[in-house]
Amino acid sequence: MSDHEEAAGSGPRTERTEAEALQHYRTLANAVDDGIYRLDAESRFVAVNDVVVERLGYAREELLGEPVSTILADGDAERVETLIRDLLASDEDARTVELPVRTADGGRVVCEVRVSLLRADGEFSGTVGVARDISERTATERRFERRANEIELERYKQYTDDVLDAVDDIFYILDEDGHLRRWNESLCEVSGYADDEVRSMHALEFFDSGAVDSDDVSEAIRTGFETGHTRIQANVLTKDGDSVPYEFYGASLEDPDGNPVIAGIGRDVTERKETKRRLEESNERLEQFAYAASHDLQEPLRMVSSYLSLVDRRYGEELDDDAAEFIEYAVDGAERMRDMIDALLTYSRVEMRGDDFDRIDLETLLEDVQKNLELKIEETEAEVTVESLPRVHGDRGQLQQVFQNLLSNALEYSGDARPRVHVSATRRGSEWALTVRDEGIGIDPKHADRIFEVFQRLHTRDEHPGTGIGLALCRRIVERHGGRIWADSESGEGSAFRFTLPAAEGRDD
Ligand code: ADP
Repeated sequence: MSDHEEAAGSGPRTERTEAEALQHYRTLANAVDDGIYRLDAESRFVAVNDVVVERLGYAREELLGEPVSTILADGDAERVETLIRDLLASDEDARTVELPVRTADGGRVVCEVRVSLLRADGEFSGTVGVARDISERTATERRFERRANEIELERYKQYTDDVLDAVDDIFYILDEDGHLRRWNESLCEVSGYADDEVRSMHALEFFDSGAVDSDDVSEAIRTGFETGHTRIQANVLTKDGDSVPYEFYGASLEDPDGNPVIAGIGRDVTERKETKRRLEESNERLEQFAYAASHDLQEPLRMVSSYLSLVDRRYGEELDDDAAEFIEYAVDGAERMRDMIDALLTYSRVEMRGDDFDRIDLETLLEDVQKNLELKIEETEAEVTVESLPRVHGDRGQLQQVFQNLLSNALEYSGDARPRVHVSATRRGSEWALTVRDEGIGIDPKHADRIFEVFQRLHTRDEHPGTGIGLALCRRIVERHGGRIWADSESGEGSAFRFTLPAAEGRDD
């Protein structure tokens, strides 16, 4: 141990013996492979053996007289103090602690230190420590621990892989460069590419550029990163050159390293597309039939009407009152039939003869509707109020028709009071809900659905003129625009006709 250890003694013989004993201790302390040190009551180094000096790299003079905290991290110095206090308070003499120690070159050695209390005349006089370098042991332990964690993680990853592979849909995680970070077996099965090929491919390479504009795919990816959600219908181009219709959904999130990614699924919509196509075809055939039938019915009806008026004109004088009345009924019936055929024609033209969608300002559209209904508004002294309305994406002519039918009904079915009609709009998520409310006769809720069907009326023609096509037409137009229409009403309480129109993002305000 250090030369600081003063040998206390009195006579020459005792001095020699004690000096020798001290020397023996020193030799002993330096002969072991562990670090041995002594601290005074204030935890300052009083002695260190050669092992401490060699392993930690400090000169002996740098340590002696310095507090032990010099070579410990803050928290660890406190731990040593606490340990000594605890030892003093207990009846134990020694305790073992694991301590990382700072070396002279800034490194770290993890030591297992056995700290023992020293007492002189029964008073605490310091501590002695025997320190063993366990860095290697802890490193090995840590390696084992890491490996065990890795195995556990691998097990969980394998489990999630199995779950994702069990799904028929394509699962994917896409990074900002458009490369796939993770995918399930379905992607390989559908596309025909092996994992290694997928790894080096860009997302756009999976799409059939003949069926989808790659700008649209890039835009969908960008939207995903910008808004957090994305969705696109696009055909997957397989390695064999087949084109399969898919719908992709994705949501953005951060990977464990904090990088933004899009995770989502892709679903084969071949069947859905095929069903939709068949439905569209059958709808189209029905429309064509309705159109042709009503169109062809017009001609014989015109004949009926014109011959009836011919009979009336030529033989009117000769007919008795009954015959004149019968002819009047027949003319009236023919007229009604003409109105109904015209209505059917308009109805059947909604899909086939509709215009392309455009950006429509509903406020100016409502002004036009009010102008068209000016006479009726004046006649009934109606009060029509219109709140601020949005711009939407749609067929102007058809939307004008919807508002015109609803407004004209609100004026027609107002009851005895002066009609009061209010038009308003509220935004509901991705939709606009538009309302035409009146304070008229209202509708019994049990008829609230029926009135949207073709030719369904709740009143006779004597009470209120009409063909019963108006609301059916409204429904067909609203549905063509991707919305819904319904009526909220109680008899005598007035009615609110509401319909929704999708608020196409970036195209309306
Ligand atoms: P039409 O008005 O030609 O009869 P519609 O399809 O427009 O045909 O309306 C169907 C039926 O719904 C009407 O006959 C009427 O009974 C009822 N209806 C429509 N709008 C209102 C309203 N605002 N208030 C009360 N009843 C209404």
